[in-house]
Amino acid sequence: MTRGFVHSPSPTRVVFGAGTVAQAAEEVRRLGGSRVLLLARPRHGEKVAAALGDLVVARFDGARMHTPVEVTAQALDVLTSAAADCVVAVGGGSATGLAKALAARTGVPQVILPTTYSGSEVTPILGETENGQKTTRRSPDVLPETVIYDVDLTLDLPVPTTVTSSINAMAHAVEALYAPEANPVVDAIAVQAIRGITHSLPLIVADPSDVDARAELLESAWLAGSCLASVSMGLHHKLCHQLGGQFDLPHAETHTVMLPQVMAYKEKESPEALAKVAEALDVPDAAAAVFDLVTELGGPTSLRELGLPESSLDGIEPASVLHAAWAGTRPDGAPTLSALTAQVLASFDN
Ligand code: NAD
Repeated sequence: MTRGFVHSPSPTRVVFGAGTVAQAAEEVRRLGGSRVLLLARPRHGEKVAAALGDLVVARFDGARMHTPVEVTAQALDVLTSAAADCVVAVGGGSATGLAKALAARTGVPQVILPTTYSGSEVTPILGETENGQKTTRRSPDVLPETVIYDVDLTLDLPVPTTVTSSINAMAHAVEALYAPEANPVVDAIAVQAIRGITHSLPLIVADPSDVDARAELLESAWLAGSCLASVSMGLHHKLCHQLGGQFDLPHAETHTVMLPQVMAYKEKESPEALAKVAEALDVPDAAAAVFDLVTELGGPTSLRELGLPESSLDGIEPASVLHAAWAGTRPDGAPTLSALTAQVLASFDN
């Protein structure tokens, strides 16, 4: 059957490399900015502040996960009273989310320097939380004008966050493969992102300062974010947003637990898409392989270990996925190696 599609490439300018933080001032000026509000925690903020010099007129370091509207209101006050005409954010998806929330309210241009693999910097999506409810909007108004990827900013990202943030990135690529808006460009980018993540991540867990692997992972995270930018959110992202907003669960960790379970569920509906993931991973069962990868790399596999009581899940569908995610069951139901060993040993007892 002929697959019809519309493809609209992103206008975001992307600068990628090592030491590219040095180009921050030039990129701000390119956007016509001369008064910068810098959104950053102290550690990376100093590096970027030094690169921006006297362009910086104000700083705000209160960005929080899931972009609570009360934090945005505080940052908006700082932006307005400093008469800033450009926002520069350095950090993970939380800092980026705050920059986007300011752009949504004022139209201020954004330059983002990512330090995690969330991919938010290349999407026109903003999720905001108010009274425990996360609402998501998609608008070109929140898409950052410029992204500066500097691999040096990612070298100190702790291994546990590196693992969960990478699986968050992988989720963007996996969901793109079964999205109704998928097209050949998105498919190719998604497969490349999945390959790059699975190749580089174990190398980084073995040696967190491996610059080449960090660069491959950062590049893959950009590709994965680009996938999410081109398609609508699927079941996995919707569930993670609901759980994150309602129970204030950590974003990347929630993605890490949910992804293999949703992949197993989607296998029945979209076998061709899951077959592409399996091919990219070079395994027969993609969902089980992602579960095993997370286990091997020490990531979380259950909502239970994120501290969520099972009763919180009542009424959220699909219940089978959520309860498997709560318990951390290996998705294909096949016994894991250790369970298998236990069974064999038990059979000797009989
Ligand atoms: P985050 O930005 O909260 O960062 C996680 C933790 O890592 C924080 O404590 C942060 O200070 C720390 N950190 C970040 N970079 C570091 C570094 N290089 N070294 C040491 N510590 C570092 O988490 P995240 O997972 O990057 O982003 C989550 C947020 O982004 C959520 O609000 C989520 O909704 C949003 N998000 C949005 C999109 C989108 O397209 N709109 C996509 C993905 C995530």
